[in-house]
Amino acid sequence: MASKSVFWRRLWKMKALNKIKILLWRTCSETLPTRCNLLRRKVLDDPTCPQCGVEIENTMQAKWECKQLLTIWEKGIWMDFEGPPSDLAFYRPGSFSWRASETAGTLFSTVAWSIWCRRNKVRCNEPSVPLGKILESVASLLMEFQSHTRSGVKALT
Ligand SMILES: [Zn+2]
Repeated sequence: MASKSVFWRRLWKMKALNKIKILLWRTCSETLPTRCNLLRRKVLDDPTCPQCGVEIENTMQAKWECKQLLTIWEKGIWMDFEGPPSDLAFYRPGSFSWRASETAGTLFSTVAWSIWCRRNKVRCNEPSVPLGKILESVASLLMEFQSHTRSGVKALT
């Protein structure tokens, strides 16, 4: 399907750290080790979300739909960008339309990556960035990435 190959091409060309693109790729190909996916593979038998402890955790829920994350996705920072990147269709190759600008895409992806990293730490009971500080950590990550790309340093992963 043509739209799918366009989607993957744009994903890999996105201006973001490789580890973020890999997370997107795993998100879109439904291979993230969410509780639901691990349950399907018979690795565990409890699909409860480690972030809120209430919902069933699947790919969309883990990074966007979990009630714990509403404070992040409802913040006004998205208003600076054309198109609401909180539109979850953003990541679905089948129903895909890349409405968000490139900058919004990079920001959106970096936030999603930070949420996933935090989720992994929470799951292991390790110290993690508080939800209220996620956007701050995203901002410094993006600044670091931009300073490295400007100075020509490659393969920052
Ligand atoms: Zn949850």
